[in-house]
Amino acid sequence: MSQIDIEDFEKLSKSHFSSNKDFIKKLKKSKPKTLDETFERHHDTVFEQMDCLTCANCCKTTSPLFIRTDIDRLAKTFRMSSVTFIDTYLRVDEEGDYVLQSSPCPFLGEDNKCLVYEDRPKACREYPHTNRKKMHQILNLTLTNSTICPAVLQVLNNMRKAAGQ
Ligand code: SF4
Ligand code: SF4
Repeated sequence: MSQIDIEDFEKLSKSHFSSNKDFIKKLKKSKPKTLDETFERHHDTVFEQMDCLTCANCCKTTSPLFIRTDIDRLAKTFRMSSVTFIDTYLRVDEEGDYVLQSSPCPFLGEDNKCLVYEDRPKACREYPHTNRKKMHQILNLTLTNSTICPAVLQVLNNMRKAAGQ
């Protein structure tokens, strides 16, 4: 497992951003049929080595979206009403979705463990979305996530290099 150094990651993500942006542009244009499988393969390889507990940059810097079932489940965990949970932790963003009022996430422990791990939002379970179906539809998001998540940066860099770009 590799320890993650966020300062190194931030420098790397900046220096690789423009190459990865070009690579994403090409993927959008060429729409490879095996894109999902390629992402999934690289995702699995990268996450075999990633120690998320030395990072937690996603939980520290961005907010997941909270869908209704997430809100109801977490409200139950905290033995509060869904309305109180929303008032206490959430706000509505520019796109009309519920997100956290503040970062880092209030449910992140000091040891980088999620305090509500079993009941965490669906978006947290699926983050960083590099092993899902229809990757073609979320290439811009994936590029953005390469500035937040060291694993995404590694996935894109590995894919780009494998493609000889
Ligand atoms: S998913 Fe990415 S940003 Fe989140 S802890 Fe793991 S490596 Fe870090
Ligand atoms: S709910 Fe847990 S996994 Fe999701 S952002 Fe907060 S600390 Fe991270």
